[in-house]
Amino acid sequence: MNNGKKHVLAVISGPSGVGKGTVIKIMFALRPDLKESVSCTTRAPREGEREGIEYFFVTKEKFENMIQGGQLLEYSQHFSNYYGTPRAFVEKSLETSDVILEIEVDGALQVKRAHPSAVLIMLLPPSMEELAARLCGRGTESGEKIAQRMQRAEYELSKKDMYDYCVVNDDAEVAARKILEIIEEQKEALK
Ligand code: 5GP
Repeated sequence: MNNGKKHVLAVISGPSGVGKGTVIKIMFALRPDLKESVSCTTRAPREGEREGIEYFFVTKEKFENMIQGGQLLEYSQHFSNYYGTPRAFVEKSLETSDVILEIEVDGALQVKRAHPSAVLIMLLPPSMEELAARLCGRGTESGEKIAQRMQRAEYELSKKDMYDYCVVNDDAEVAARKILEIIEEQKEALK
């Protein structure tokens, strides 16, 4: 992928509970021309998740075959499940559109190594207290799970200096607009 047509590959990461889903939804409402890659995962679908919409749900064997076949732009293990970005979709989409990947830090750094023109954006909580409150507020997870997610959040946040930009999600619409501005600036820089 040489990004020859100057479309931007934007990678958005952030700890669980930071509100990535909401921010990205607003970005798409403001910029319907953006494309978001659908990842493959070996985790089980959650209630309401649809094949090919939230994820492609695959077996571990199929995922490992995809790794072997070079079909993934990046992949990582997260809470003992594999997650990866299908290479073909991203490369094809970049010919016509800016592309958004919503992935965790290890995968994001792989994308940056392979494609230095990708822009890495980390969404930050206003504070760790606020993040803990958001994670607890979901009400769907046990104390142990919440503690695990907080530990993982600390790991993800420890990588923030390796990102091109950090955006605080105090207000989801403000954060979404800020990320769209970053994408526009990156497009200018690629010209
Ligand atoms: P969840 O299971 O909650 O949907 O996602 C767990 C984590 O996996 C999130 O941090 C999400 O950003 C990350 N993730 C989703 N898709 C991918 C992917 O294709 N590659 C990588 N490296 N991480 C992903």
